[in-house]
Amino acid sequence: MISEKMKGFVANSSIIRAMFEEGKKMAEKYGTDRVYDFSLGNPNVPAPDEVREAIVDIVTNTDPVRVHGYMNNSGFEDVRETIARHLNELYGTSYGAGNILMTVGAAGGLNVIFKTLLNPGDEVVTVSPYFGEYRSYAGNFDAVLVESAADPKTFYPDIADLEAKITEKTRVLILNSPNNPTGVVYPKAVLEEIALVLERKSGRYGAPIYLVSDEPYREIAFDGVEVPWIPSIYKNTIVGSSYSKTLSLPGERIGYLVIPSCLDDFENVTAAANVANRILGFVNAPSLMQLVAARCCGAKTDVAYYDRNRKLLYDGLTSCGYECVKPEGAFYLWVKSPEEDETAFAARCKNEEQILVVPGRSFGCAGYVRIAYCVSYETILNALPGFKKVAESYR
Ligand code: PLP
Repeated sequence: MISEKMKGFVANSSIIRAMFEEGKKMAEKYGTDRVYDFSLGNPNVPAPDEVREAIVDIVTNTDPVRVHGYMNNSGFEDVRETIARHLNELYGTSYGAGNILMTVGAAGGLNVIFKTLLNPGDEVVTVSPYFGEYRSYAGNFDAVLVESAADPKTFYPDIADLEAKITEKTRVLILNSPNNPTGVVYPKAVLEEIALVLERKSGRYGAPIYLVSDEPYREIAFDGVEVPWIPSIYKNTIVGSSYSKTLSLPGERIGYLVIPSCLDDFENVTAAANVANRILGFVNAPSLMQLVAARCCGAKTDVAYYDRNRKLLYDGLTSCGYECVKPEGAFYLWVKSPEEDETAFAARCKNEEQILVVPGRSFGCAGYVRIAYCVSYETILNALPGFKKVAESYR
């Protein structure tokens, strides 16, 4: 018999994962080139050459006891030092190894920091639409996810609503920019307003409200848009980073947390996060991938590839009448459903045109669908006539 708590998690299990499985079955039935699966954020761009070269070199030329052994739960000291130096070059900060904790992807990092900060009954505020797993991650520690709806015109946080949602129970605000599922990048001015709200509320309630900035898409931004470094705007910020998307390594499970020294209760937070990494069962992030990450700090994914897909999809869908949010980052397009019930629209796409899109309610925002365009250019090109037919069927 499974636990009551797991019954809830299983019942609400990710619709995106279910669609991914269904897409595979549909591909067997109709042929891979006749199924257009836009459900999962699994990068189609291969990892940069530097990654393969680093793996081969490390496995061939480094002491295997070091490569494959246990280590400090926070990760290899020299890897953390290298990543800290890289961040310092980019953001003018002065981090050291003590500010970096290597994690099992962003998902591992978020669970580590939630375990570190949350008591049962605490609230984690986020802006909807949001990455649906936040609900489970908060639930893992018996905390409650509270949604603040984004401004429907811009999909930036609605400052007044956010302020209303932050109460004496709020321990964490989790933000994600570039955003999954909308593709928007929060401007500095908006983040500055949020910082003022958090400072005011922390002062009023006499305890810090931490901002967790979930940033797996930081390097995937288009048209030169600035992705502000949030710890420079709000001091109680912890950054969760990952190589899943920016180096196309989602299966390798490697990422890191940045915990700046100016954070309130820094010593206790870093010590607890180190222990959390161990007792959640991660023990430490994958050792080979840590070494690869340090070697490939400056490597870049092919952002131009995603940009080309973005333009094809955005122009293609808007020209046949869909209302879309123009993405500035990540690799998702957020599209208004032509009928109120977006699950019916998604079903029509699937049943009539073998196109898989994700209903917005799995991101806490009904009436929209998410299209992940980290697929081949041809998949988008070949899906556009189907999208057009579905649009016409609503006229
Ligand atoms: N956060 C967001 C917003 C994501 O979109 C994802 C993955 O899709 C994650 C976290 C988890 O990333 P990782 O594979 O690094 O655990």
